[in-house]
Amino acid sequence: MVATPKTILITGASSGIGAATAIAAAECGYDVGIGYHSDREGAEITAKRVRALGQTAVILQADISDPDDVENMFEHFDEELGELGVLVNNAGIVDEPARVENISHARLRRMFDINTIGPFLCAKQAAIRMSYQFGGAGGVIVNVSSMAASLGSAGRYVDYAASKGALDVLTKGLGDEMAANHVRVVGVRPGIIDTEIHAKNGEPDRVRNMSNELPMHRAGSAREVADTIVYLMSDKASYITATSIDVGGGR
Ligand code: NAP
Repeated sequence: MVATPKTILITGASSGIGAATAIAAAECGYDVGIGYHSDREGAEITAKRVRALGQTAVILQADISDPDDVENMFEHFDEELGELGVLVNNAGIVDEPARVENISHARLRRMFDINTIGPFLCAKQAAIRMSYQFGGAGGVIVNVSSMAASLGSAGRYVDYAASKGALDVLTKGLGDEMAANHVRVVGVRPGIIDTEIHAKNGEPDRVRNMSNELPMHRAGSAREVADTIVYLMSDKASYITATSIDVGGGR
């Protein structure tokens, strides 16, 4: 089995699942590239927590929907942390609840630019660096999708669900393309997780309001998703690729 470098780039690590993944990875001895878009303070807090665990943390600002930003982010990572071992394609957005007939073209573009095209661009940069074919040492790409990709999110955000469904296809297709190149590509599909994303979306009480409707009568925590990601990127998951795992609490 090939040893993957203990370096990780996590997009959207200034809050929520990305920040929790940075801490969980640092606990496992990874040096961490902390991607963020606008929340510099959140990125600094994550970096401080990674450093407190004795690991190196580098803060990387980028809008993942911008191809130049993505390239610069990976180059900055190369310079500061060296060989890339793991990419976690975590950054993502939702939008206000709306039926399809009320979803604008501008909203669709933004949703797919950030949730689908951004992770594609990042996966491409990671694959070039990791792939045996191009002289890399192998690696793992983890795509953070959503249970919405299976459920469809009718009446709320079918656009978001579709953008994550496309990400699941990237996991399968790129996983198959990279399987012989010592690069595993895996996905997680979180259910309702207690993070800031709901408040950003104008629904600060979503987790509290939904809890009783959920099979386990509670939302998941960012750490529960992070622990699944860390498992998937570890050698314990060495025969898992081109597939996704639901972290939906039975949803
Ligand atoms: P969050 O706390 O809102 O974090 C989202 C992260 O994405 C932030 O760090 C944000 O950066 C970053 N981001 C947003 N737009 C970006 C852009 N254009 N370029 C680069 N980074 C950008 O949300 P979360 O709940 O942890 O969500 C993380 C992932 O889990 C998302 O992909 C989301 O779809 C998925 N997910 C979440 C849930 C849930 O219930 N929480 C359920 C299923 C799936 P800045 O804040 O620095 O701008």
